[in-house]
This record gives sequence, structure tokens and C-alpha cells, in this order.
Amino acid sequence: MGIAEERIDRLAALAREAVAADDPDRARRYVRLARRIAERNRLTLPRSFRRFTCDACDAYLRPGRNARVRLADGHVVVRCDCGATARYPYE
Ligand SMILES: [Zn+2]
Repeated sequence: MGIAEERIDRLAALAREAVAADDPDRARRYVRLARRIAERNRLTLPRSFRRFTCDACDAYLRPGRNARVRLADGHVVVRCDCGATARYPYE
């Protein structure tokens, strides 16, 4: 794993902790930073990062905290508190 990947990993962990600590704005800053690093280094963000971040508002999503997760027609539907939803095929 390269330095950029490690930083992204670390930022995802920090964002997760920030949401748990009721500091969604701090979590958003980490998410945006991680996205920027990925862009600059032409990296694809890890799947777990993509699943647990909101494309609309950059929130780091923790189901039961700032996101609702439900299953619908073979998809996992994740709804952020901002109202945006994302659908992923069920595995
Ligand atoms: Zn959102």
C-alpha cells in the first residue's frame, strides 16, 4: 500500500471517529481531504470509503447515526441525513 492509500485509510478512520464524537463537520473535512488525495494520485477510493460517504454532502455515514440503510430489490439503499440516497447491488 502506498503513502496516499495509507493516508486515505487513516482519514477514513478519523472521519468515522469524528462522526462517533458528534462532529460531522470535522468528518466532512477528512472525507474531502481523502477525496482530494485520491484525485491527485489517480487512485480509486476503497469500496468501503465510497459506501460510507455521501456523494451529495461529503458526510461520513454511520448507519443508525447519520444514515439509514435498508434493503430493496436486491439493493442496499443508503440514505444520508441530507436526503441523498445511494444504491448498491446486494452482495
Ligand atoms: Zn449527505
